[in-house]
Amino acid sequence: MTSIQELHHHQALDDVLSKIRDAEQKAGREKGSVDLVAVSKTFFGEHIHPALLAGQRIFGENRVQESLQKWPELKNTYADVDLHLIGPLQSNKVKDAVGLFDCIQSVDRLKLARALANEIQRTGRNIRLLVQVNTGEEPQKAGVLPEDVDSFLQQIKSELGLNISGLMCIPPSTENPAPHFALLSDMAKRNGLDQLSMGMSADFETAIEFGATYVRVGSAIFGARPKPQS
Ligand SMILES: *Cc1c(COP(=O)(O)O)cnc(C)c1O
Repeated sequence: MTSIQELHHHQALDDVLSKIRDAEQKAGREKGSVDLVAVSKTFFGEHIHPALLAGQRIFGENRVQESLQKWPELKNTYADVDLHLIGPLQSNKVKDAVGLFDCIQSVDRLKLARALANEIQRTGRNIRLLVQVNTGEEPQKAGVLPEDVDSFLQQIKSELGLNISGLMCIPPSTENPAPHFALLSDMAKRNGLDQLSMGMSADFETAIEFGATYVRVGSAIFGARPKPQS
């Protein structure tokens, strides 16, 4: 009889975690200062369970509807799961999102922030919020424009009393991500924010160099996703 639970081996997860620890060290950052958000979008229980059994607890999803199909049950079994919404959130899904997620990384407009503030107050849920920044100013991409970030944060704080923990970005896929990571880091610093969610499978080590506290890694852990999703 023992209270120590045997963790199951998960090679891809192990590889990503050791690359994160190496990158922390290389950047002169404290060990464990970067948290891995395992992005499980498009995957269901049979793929997610092995990561849970290996001890992974922070997961990221980009769709509220899909998350409702899998996470309530998984969260019943693993009460300490920390579930992050990393995709766009429509105001009419705010109730569901606040009920299910522990962190929402995609706050990007005042109307959404208002709806979140109301729902958080109504339910008393303790949810962390990150503001998504469209660092590449891509018309098709969600996020606050860099020039509007300071005033947006100010407004959220003074008008809504909402506490924002940090910033998130998804750099343009065709560009060197480093300048985008540097820009996000600067914006967080000058606004006194601690959390930086940046870096995916292809560039999380670079993001750690620029101060990421959350890296969002999907395919390097779970494998390639079916084509239509991205
Ligand atoms: C899908 C997704 C990821 C993970 O992408 P990978 O390249 O599979 O690591 C990270 N962040 C966001 C916002 C995503 O939608």
